[in-house]
Amino acid sequence: MSKKRVIYEGKAKILYEGPEPGTLIQYFKDDATAFNAQKRAVLDGKGVLNNRISEFMMTRLSAVGIPTHFIRRLNMREQLVKKVDIIPLEVVVRNVAAGTLSKRLGIEEGQVLPRPMVEFYLKDDALGDPLVTEEHIAAFGWAAAQEYDDLIAMSLRVNDFMSGLFAAVGIRLVDFKLEFGRHYEGDSDVPRILLADEISPDSCRLWDFETGDKLDKDRFRRDLGGVTEAYAEVARRLGILKESGESDNVVSFTNGK
Ligand code: ADP
Ligand code: UDP
Repeated sequence: MSKKRVIYEGKAKILYEGPEPGTLIQYFKDDATAFNAQKRAVLDGKGVLNNRISEFMMTRLSAVGIPTHFIRRLNMREQLVKKVDIIPLEVVVRNVAAGTLSKRLGIEEGQVLPRPMVEFYLKDDALGDPLVTEEHIAAFGWAAAQEYDDLIAMSLRVNDFMSGLFAAVGIRLVDFKLEFGRHYEGDSDVPRILLADEISPDSCRLWDFETGDKLDKDRFRRDLGGVTEAYAEVARRLGILKESGESDNVVSFTNGK
C-alpha cells in the first residue's frame, strides 16, 4: 500500500493511482467528520463496513442499468474504480424531512415529503457546500443543461431502487447524497456520466422502520453512540455480514487494515 501514489486524501477516503490508466484505488479510512470537519473521530471498522456497503449498492445499481465507477473490491478497505472528473455538485435526494431541510425551512423532522426532492449543493468545503439552484449551475458551468437533467433522472432512479432495497430489510431511506463524474471511454471525447464516490451510512439517513432508530452518521453527529454497530446492523440486514455471530463481533469482521 505504501508504494502506491496518493492522488488525493480526503476526510473519509484516500485515492491512490490505479493499476491501469483511467483507474483509481479508493481506500476507506475509519475517520469520521461532521459539521464541515469541525467534529472529528476515528471509528474502528467504519471504513471496512463502508467499503462493503458501497460495493453492495454500486453493484446492484449497476445491475439495474445505472452506470457507476465501481470495478471491483480489492480487499477489506480498498476498491478499484474508474477515474472520473467529479462534477462539483453534491446531489441530495430526500424522501422524509430531516437535517438541513428541517433546519432551513422549519419542516418537522420525520415528515414524509409529498414527493422525492432533489437538491444540489456546491462541493466546496471552504464555502460550507452551499445550496445552489439550476440557474447557478448553468451560469457557472458546473453542469451542462443535459447533464443537469441526467443527474436528476439518475438520482431519482437510484432513490427508487434503494428505497425498495432498504424497505425490504426494514429500513426507511430518509435522504442521501450522491456524487457523479465524467468518464471518457477509450478515445471518445464525449463523456459518460457515472455515479461515483460512495453510498454508505456516512452519506445516507437510514431509520429503522419499526423503532425509528438511526442507523447512520447522525449517531456520530448527535453523539448517540453505537455508530459502527449501527453500520454493521445495516450490513447485516443487507446480507453483507452473513452470520449473526459475525455481526455480534464487528471487530473480527473489521480487523483488516
Ligand atoms: P472529501 O473530499 O469531501 O473529504 P472523501 O474523503 O470521501 O471526501 O474523498 C474522496 C474524494 O474522491 C471526493 O472528493 C470525491 O469527490 C472523489 N472521488 C470519488 N470517486 C471518484 C472517482 N471515481 N474519480 C475521481 N474522484 C473521485
Ligand atoms: N450528506 C453527505 N455529505 C455532505 C452533506 C450531506 O453525505 O457533505 C448527506 C447526509 O448524510 C444526508 C443527506 O446528505 O444523508 C442530506 O444532508 P443534509 O443536507 O440534511 O445535511 P446534514 O444535516 O447531513 O449536514
